[in-house]
Amino acid sequence: MALLSIDIGGTKIRAGLVEGDQVQETVTFPTEAHKGAQHVLSVVVRASEVLSGYDGIGVACAGVVSEGKVISATSLLPGWAGTDVAGALREASGVKVTVLGDVHAHGMGEALCGAGRGYSSCLTVAVGTGIGGAFIDNGCIQRGAHALAGHIGHISTSYAEGLECSCGRSGHVEPLASGSGVMDRYEALTGERCDGREIDRRAQAGEQNAVDVLYGSARGLGEVLGSVANVMDPAVFVLSGSMTRSGKGWWDSLAQGYASSAMNLVRETPIVLGTLGDDAPLIGAAMQWRKEWQ
Ligand SMILES: [Zn+2]
Repeated sequence: MALLSIDIGGTKIRAGLVEGDQVQETVTFPTEAHKGAQHVLSVVVRASEVLSGYDGIGVACAGVVSEGKVISATSLLPGWAGTDVAGALREASGVKVTVLGDVHAHGMGEALCGAGRGYSSCLTVAVGTGIGGAFIDNGCIQRGAHALAGHIGHISTSYAEGLECSCGRSGHVEPLASGSGVMDRYEALTGERCDGREIDRRAQAGEQNAVDVLYGSARGLGEVLGSVANVMDPAVFVLSGSMTRSGKGWWDSLAQGYASSAMNLVRETPIVLGTLGDDAPLIGAAMQWRKEWQ
């Protein structure tokens, strides 16, 4: 049985047919978020019409999602909050629709079909432009009472003291350890704007500012993961996103930060790299559809 999965992001909308745990044919459209939520929704519906031969639709959607509707979204998608994604797709296609937040869908994909496969529980962490996370226990995504569960980027750490966060608070790990956070802090220190790869290269070459910014960010993130392990005790952490392509120094610093805060029983919890890349949310949205409708 084939399902259609649609990943709605701030810059692109990617749809693909999923059979089993394999993504087959895909199409991609620009989101054009500046044209407003109704336009974005019309692109999503068009994606569902371009592909055919599916029996249901799973959606991985930017923002916080509850019962098929977006209940909160960042400024990347203006007017997106309040959008009834499930309703629009149901009406257009006539099939059953499931909608998850994109970070939750990504987590479901990695937990069930990627690096977390075979573990009883899995905490996925995406460290890219921002930082997001998801906890999957026994194959089920944990959404929390307000669909907000998993927002690991918004945990406080002493390393991030005084840093302003995208959520409007300060001291959260996201502005410290996300890709944009690392670039901002390196620029503030040196006056030079470099991408994460260049800062990593400079840190590996021993440039002190790059070492301080990049490895300090990884230690702070590691400390946060250790604290999360103390509360949730996942069987494995699965990391993905651009920052995880940093070199050994980043990973060693992450491990040091983790060791500094994780309690003894969770000290050896594996921290591994995700394996599904961009397909993770498509596969995860399809897995969630099967959970709800099969
Ligand atoms: Zn925050």
